[in-house]
Amino acid sequence: MSSTLTPNARPKPASYAWEATDEEVAARYDVALDEILRFDLNTSPEPPALAAASLARGAFQPVLSEYPPSNYGRLVQAAADVYEARPQEILVGAGADEILDLAGKAFLPAGGSAVIPVPSYAMYRVLTEQRGARVIEVPRRPAAEGWALDIQATADAAAQADLVWLCSPNNPTALAEPDGTIESLLGVLEARADRAGARPPIVILDEAYAEFSGVSLLTLRTRHPNLVVVRTASKAYALAGLRVGFAIAHPETIAEIAPYRPPASVSTLSAMVVAEALRDGAAMEANVARVDRERDRLGDALGELGWYLGPSVTNFLLADFGTAERAAAIAEGLLRRAVVPRTFGTGHPLAAFLRFTIRDASGNDRLIAAAAEIAR
Ligand code: PMP
Repeated sequence: MSSTLTPNARPKPASYAWEATDEEVAARYDVALDEILRFDLNTSPEPPALAAASLARGAFQPVLSEYPPSNYGRLVQAAADVYEARPQEILVGAGADEILDLAGKAFLPAGGSAVIPVPSYAMYRVLTEQRGARVIEVPRRPAAEGWALDIQATADAAAQADLVWLCSPNNPTALAEPDGTIESLLGVLEARADRAGARPPIVILDEAYAEFSGVSLLTLRTRHPNLVVVRTASKAYALAGLRVGFAIAHPETIAEIAPYRPPASVSTLSAMVVAEALRDGAAMEANVARVDRERDRLGDALGELGWYLGPSVTNFLLADFGTAERAAAIAEGLLRRAVVPRTFGTGHPLAAFLRFTIRDASGNDRLIAAAAEIAR
């Protein structure tokens, strides 16, 4: 008897689109692999000295033949101390990306829907589509108004939604929501749900870049059990390669996400090094201060070359080139000089823009020199 394969009727979600790999850039633009400098990933230029030195001298003794502790006790406690939360308010994941994925699994049913104020981090759409849920995009206010959330339009769109994806400071627009905006949105959603005797939609607040802005809405979680704050070791802590992120929320909300966690997705080594790095607040703050200084210097230098850069409270800059054609030509010119910007592609609301990570002084000088050559 032969079995019949039924075609999978579910539409395939679009994948997350990375820029070209180092190898692809080297081959396409005939540049040396080791000259390529990436400005597309919003990482920090170097890992914290303590973590790097401890690794080098073997200060960490992970037992590599064993699984990490199932409760990630030390890592959770370190996060609880830094985020001023209780351990039961914290869930660890393999980067903020795994946390976002788990939140989607926990709160987005197939056939449900999620609101995304756009433009924002591309993964929110990918994850929503993976769940077989519908994306409801709500345009943000224009650049002149700080790309702020349109509270009324977001609240209206959320009326029937299961989940709202928020990001502050927002990637790629580089600004945080104005004071009070997110709190009032939470208030509107809860008041409406109360009247209907329903549960308000879950609000995921991605604070991957919060340390750079110095502002976090973590404390709102105690008053708003539908709020899940997402943090990461990848950005200000400069440990993107280790893949560690956190959800911080009301214990009952954490308990709803936890069943979707795969066992041991954060490696023993990652858990050890990040627990150590979280305890070294001074190193993180020194990194943030360095990035701040370099952001101002890079912004001034590129501004003098005629680039228009929006304000930023993050470790990246968003440059507006006016037209998609000009942005594409600048990107091409940079790639020919082994400098990789973040592009947005035709059809994207930011097609006329490029995004640049702040690197160390010599890396930023390379970008300035490449931009100067192109301007000539
Ligand atoms: N959220 C935002 C807004 C990001 O920009 C990124 C990184 N590109 C992530 C989450 C993922 O971070 P992680 O490395 O912690 O998975």
